[in-house]
Amino acid sequence: MIITLEKQCTTDQRAAIEAVARGAKLEVHPIIGVNETVLGLVGDFNGRYGDMFDHFQAMPGVASIQKISKPYKLAGRDMHPADTIVEVGGVKIGDGSLTHIAGPCAVESEVQIRSIALLVHDAGANVFRGGAFKPRTSPYSFSGLKEDGLRMLRDAGGEVGMPVVTEVMDTRDVPVVSRYADILQVGARNMKNFSLLQEVGQTGMPVMLKRGADATIEDLLMSAEHVLSRRRDREPRLILCERGVIGFDDETRNLTDMSAIPVLHRITHLPVVLDPSHATGVREYVGPMALAGVAAGADGIHIEVHNKPEEALCDGKQSLLPDQYAELIERMAAVHRAVRGVYPRG
Ligand code: PEP
Ligand code: MN
Repeated sequence: MIITLEKQCTTDQRAAIEAVARGAKLEVHPIIGVNETVLGLVGDFNGRYGDMFDHFQAMPGVASIQKISKPYKLAGRDMHPADTIVEVGGVKIGDGSLTHIAGPCAVESEVQIRSIALLVHDAGANVFRGGAFKPRTSPYSFSGLKEDGLRMLRDAGGEVGMPVVTEVMDTRDVPVVSRYADILQVGARNMKNFSLLQEVGQTGMPVMLKRGADATIEDLLMSAEHVLSRRRDREPRLILCERGVIGFDDETRNLTDMSAIPVLHRITHLPVVLDPSHATGVREYVGPMALAGVAAGADGIHIEVHNKPEEALCDGKQSLLPDQYAELIERMAAVHRAVRGVYPRG
């Protein structure tokens, strides 16, 4: 429920409205604009939505009330029409620029991670990635260097001045990953791990949430809602990442859902990043999908890069070589310039 206050609404009138809402155990999210103040009420109305609606409508200071029919209230644009910009380590994600997130699938050694950090930084990346906790299909595959890997990632990112994003797979690891990461990544497999979503939400840290391969856009936004509902400071600091959905053709790992980018921009204020590496699973197709993602209005492109992909312990087949990445960044910049102004987000 969204209550728009009258311009002349007094402090006491507003306090009375908020008191009724809180008395009904609803959360109050005030949005103070230049021309109007709006109170977003979220929570369980316990079947009393109609009664509450009538009650608020009769209260002094209320100009109008709008019902929200969407189940995602904090992630949707109804209560938060303005675009969210996530700022981390001097990088602004969602401000109209194109953010380049790059790095290897996994942190493998100090030498490997430092070399790749330098290479992707020189190519123009501004956020560094690398997994230290790796979700693997087989329990016998390399599953990451854990805290040692986090330390190496942090140091390598720090050397080139790039904030780092890395995956956290388990609620028990949230404290350790939070100590080293600038952005916590929740992977596709964990998109519906609601305890993990709430735990990362509670940290207040920036989060990048990847869409599950079998998740609808509404599922993704409901998962986002779990993160946002735990933000004590109400700051959204959440980035959504499209990385393909299950298709019926095995030429690529997933079907890159390009239309999810404009759809998400219409219904949520959160920035949207495309990951063509995990979407396609094939090096050759990463570039074309990255360019298409920029053309579709993505706020950032997330790409796996490795200097020795044939030796990579994970996802070498989809990793770009540093030179290929540098060339792709130039092409992405050209497409980004060409579409500037075509998509006012929202
Ligand atoms: C990753 O980014 O390293 C990863 C495992 O991604 P996803 O969750 O999209 O498979
Ligand atoms: Mn990977």
